[in-house]
Amino acid sequence: MTHKIIDGKMHAQVIKDDVKLRVEKLKELGWPPRLVSIGIGDSPAVALYMKHQQRAAETVGIAYEHRHYPSDITQREVMAAIQTLNVDPRVTGIILQRPVPQTLDLEELENAIQRSKDVEGMSSANIGNIVYGDSSLGPCTSLASVELLRSTGLNLRGLEVVVVGASEIVGKPVALMLVEELCTVTICHIGTRNLTYHTRQADAVIVAVGKPGLITADMIKPGAAVIDIGINQIDVILPDGTIGKKTVGDVDFEGVQQVAGWITPVPGGVGPATVAMLLRNTVVATERQKLKCEEEMRK
Ligand code: NAD
Repeated sequence: MTHKIIDGKMHAQVIKDDVKLRVEKLKELGWPPRLVSIGIGDSPAVALYMKHQQRAAETVGIAYEHRHYPSDITQREVMAAIQTLNVDPRVTGIILQRPVPQTLDLEELENAIQRSKDVEGMSSANIGNIVYGDSSLGPCTSLASVELLRSTGLNLRGLEVVVVGASEIVGKPVALMLVEELCTVTICHIGTRNLTYHTRQADAVIVAVGKPGLITADMIKPGAAVIDIGINQIDVILPDGTIGKKTVGDVDFEGVQQVAGWITPVPGGVGPATVAMLLRNTVVATERQKLKCEEEMRK
């Protein structure tokens, strides 16, 4: 079986090249895209995401500003900060970094972000729009997964796809986006009785669970495409005998790559494509705000 490793970084670069041109055009027209990231508390994960996002944004010419708030900030104070950004015409995209402290209501905060500035596609409005076939500001990871599946060249119409994981931010939206592409989609989750029965029949398996080694070679139909969204830290024994950390997905990469037709690595697969989608959403959001403003001025 010849398998093909899907290079997420390469696909991300193609998206970023397009974004860069659109950013230049927007700047010429007086609409520089500007992202503001909100981070609450001191999470090392947030610090890392923020650094990656900032670097990626700057490479395509998007201004990126991070605002850090202490973990004892109240819900009202964060809501007020979001409202200020919503009405600031210089801010074209808002990112709320997760996790937020447990004292805060994450859903309420996500929904407070004005829909047209919700570049992560996490608000109920943008997720709900997917049902109506509009995923233009959809959740970045779901958009990235569909893009990587498309990159295999498989005809999506009628493709049997199994999505493993049914969260609001990844599994469910990606399944709905694939229905829009006329795939035949099965969603599996913690209640699924026989996961292998479903995955074995699939032309493509998309996994977003958060359990390393969940998908093994015997669960995959030879030649199928496997998109691994999972991000997990596992312990590994280093050459000097000490224990270190390694990032892996939900798929047993070594085993599954022997049977799959295409497979995404972790890291280097869905992750970089997700960051590229965030930048693309930022440009889409800015282009829309510009159009809306022009329409209002014509009235
Ligand atoms: P979640 O915990 O919200 O949802 C997990 C889903 O998996 C649930 O629907 C649950 O029913 C299902 N599940 C749990 N155990 C299962 C099992 N044994 N068999 C089948 N289904 C099972 O998780 P999430 O937020 O969707 O994230 C999932 C994974 O994706 C995590 O590893 C997360 O880090 C990763 N993630 C990656 C990106 C990215 O950009 N690459 C973005 C978001 C999330």
